[in-house]
Amino acid sequence: MLASRSVLAPPTAETRPIQVLPPDVVEQIAAGEVVERPVSVVRELVDNALDAGATDIGVELLGGGLELIRAADNGHGIPADQVELAFARHATSKIGSIHDVYALHTLGFRGEALPSIAAVAEVSLATRTREAAVGTLVVATAHDVGRRQQIARQPGTTVTVRHLFATVPARRRFLASARTESARVATHVRRMALGHPRVRFALTIDGRLAFASRGLGDDRAVLADLYGATVAAELRAFGVDGTDGYISPRSVTRPDRQQLTLVINGRLTSARGVLEALETAYRPVLPRGRHPIALVRLTLPPEDIDPNVHPAKAMVRLRREAELAERLAAAVREALARAPDRPAADADFALGPGQLNLPRPRRRMTGLSLREGGQGQAGRPLAAALLAPRSLAQIGQALVLVEAESGLFLVDQHRAHERVIYERLRASDRLDSQALLEPIVLELNPHQTVQILERLPTLQALGFDCQHFGHHDFLVRSVPAIQGGEDLSEALPGLIAEAARVDDGWRARLLASLACRAAVRRGRGLGSPELRRLLGDLAATTTPAACAHGSPVVLHFSGEFLRRQFRW
Ligand code: ADP
Ligand code: MG
Repeated sequence: MLASRSVLAPPTAETRPIQVLPPDVVEQIAAGEVVERPVSVVRELVDNALDAGATDIGVELLGGGLELIRAADNGHGIPADQVELAFARHATSKIGSIHDVYALHTLGFRGEALPSIAAVAEVSLATRTREAAVGTLVVATAHDVGRRQQIARQPGTTVTVRHLFATVPARRRFLASARTESARVATHVRRMALGHPRVRFALTIDGRLAFASRGLGDDRAVLADLYGATVAAELRAFGVDGTDGYISPRSVTRPDRQQLTLVINGRLTSARGVLEALETAYRPVLPRGRHPIALVRLTLPPEDIDPNVHPAKAMVRLRREAELAERLAAAVREALARAPDRPAADADFALGPGQLNLPRPRRRMTGLSLREGGQGQAGRPLAAALLAPRSLAQIGQALVLVEAESGLFLVDQHRAHERVIYERLRASDRLDSQALLEPIVLELNPHQTVQILERLPTLQALGFDCQHFGHHDFLVRSVPAIQGGEDLSEALPGLIAEAARVDDGWRARLLASLACRAAVRRGRGLGSPELRRLLGDLAATTTPAACAHGSPVVLHFSGEFLRRQFRW
C-alpha cells in the first residue's frame, strides 16, 4: 500500500520559506499553461494541500467551478508574513535549486499555480500555521494582492477561487457544460483518493456531497464509486514491492484507455512505457480494440522520476522504465491467472457515481435481524412481505425499500434479480438464444480450446452459438436470451472462460456468472411495476434471502427493532 505521508512531505522534512526562484532555475523548468479549465484549478489546489501534509481535504464546487472552487485542508499552513509571496510568480517553498527537482517529495515545485489562478479569477486564501495564534486572509486578483487581515480559523489552508475566467471570455468558450466540468473534477478527486488512500477527501458539488473517502485505505469503496459496485468487486488486487493496484479480469473491458489510472509517488500521471507494459501483459486475453480498467500505484525513489517534462505535471519521465514495466507486467499476468479475489465486504454497499452513499454496515449489526435462507419460519414473513407490500420505493438506484406488516425490508436489486435469474437458468435444460449485434471473435489458449470444443453441444443448449473457426479462435454469434437482463456482449469473454474451466462444476458456475452478468445493475432506475415484478419473482425463489454467492439479498428491520432503536 502506498503510504502517502512517507512519499509526500515527510513529517521530518523542514518546511522551507517561500522564495522566488532565481532566473536560471526558472529557465530550466518546463513552462506552459497551467489553468485550462476548472479541474486544472482543483488539481493545483489539491496538490498544494497534499504537499502541506494534509490528511483531510475538502473540495467544493459551484456552477461547474466557474462560480466557485474551494479547497480546504488541515495541512501545515502558510506563515502570515509569506502569504503575499505565495502569489508571486516562481515563488515556492518546495525547491531552492534545480537539483531539488530530482529529489522531490512534493507534487508542486514551480511556484506558478497560485499566481496563474489569480490571473484569471479572484482568489482568497485563508491560512494558519499550527504555531500561529491567529490566521491570515488575503484576496488576490489579476491586479494585486490585497492587504492581509487577521482571522480566526483552524490550522490549515482554505483557498477560494471565484469567477474563474470571468475576464477571459475566450477561455470560457472552450469549456463544456457545468455538468461536464463538474464530472471532470469528480473523476480527478476520486482518482486522487485512490492515489492517497490514507487521506480523507470530500467533494461537494452545488451543495450536494458527491464523494467522500474515509482515508482508511478502503480502495474497494472508492473503486466502487468510480466504476460501480459490480465492476469494482471484480477487480483483482495485485501488489509487489513499490507496485500495487487493481486490474480488471479479462471479462471486464472498456473500448478506450480512459480507465487506466497511473499514480506515481502520489502523482496522477501518465508514463507511456508503463501503460504499454500493462496493456502488453493483457494483450493475449483482450478482445481486439478493448482495454482494461486498471489502477496502478508506483512508489519510486524520487531520483528515478523526472517530473519536469510537462507544465501541468501530467506526464513524467522515468529512469529504469523498462525494468519497472517488466515488474508490472509480471504482477499483472500473475493477477490475471489467479482466481478472482473475494471482494471486500465494503464494496457491497458502495454505490455508483452520483448515488446515495449509505453508511457501510459494520460487520456485526446488533438488533438487525437478517433472515437467512427462505426456508422455515424465517422465510415466510419475507415471502409474504415481498408479495404484498404496503408500500415500496427504490432508493439510491440500488435498493428497494419495502414496507410490510412485519417491518421494513431492504432488498438489493442486483442480487435479487441475480437470484431470480439463477434459479430460472438452473431449472431449464434449454435456453433461448439472442443474436449479438456483431459476432465476437474470441481467442482462447490451448487448454481452453480443448475444453470448449468438448462442451460446444452443452453451450449450444444454453444459448451460446459458438463456432470453432480454426486454431484457437471461436466465433460467437449469440448468447442466452435472458428476459429483462443486461446486455451480455461485454461479459462474453469472461463467460466463455468460465465455461472452459477444468472443473466438473463448470455448468453451475457458468450459470451463476450468467445470472450475475444479466442481472439488473445497481445504478439502474426501476419503475414501480418493475419493482413489483422483481419482488414477486424473488418471493417465488427457493432462497430469497441469499444470492447465488451466499451474500445477503434482503435486510429486515422489524417493528420491534425500530421501536428499540428510536426508544419510542
Ligand atoms: P508550488 O506548489 O509549485 O510551490 P504554488 O503556486 O502552487 O507553487 O504555491 C506557492 C506556495 O504557496 C507553495 O510553495 C507553498 O509554500 C504555499 N502553499 C500553497 N498552497 C498551500 C497550502 N494549501 N498549504 C500550505 N502551503 C501552501
Ligand atoms: Mg502548487
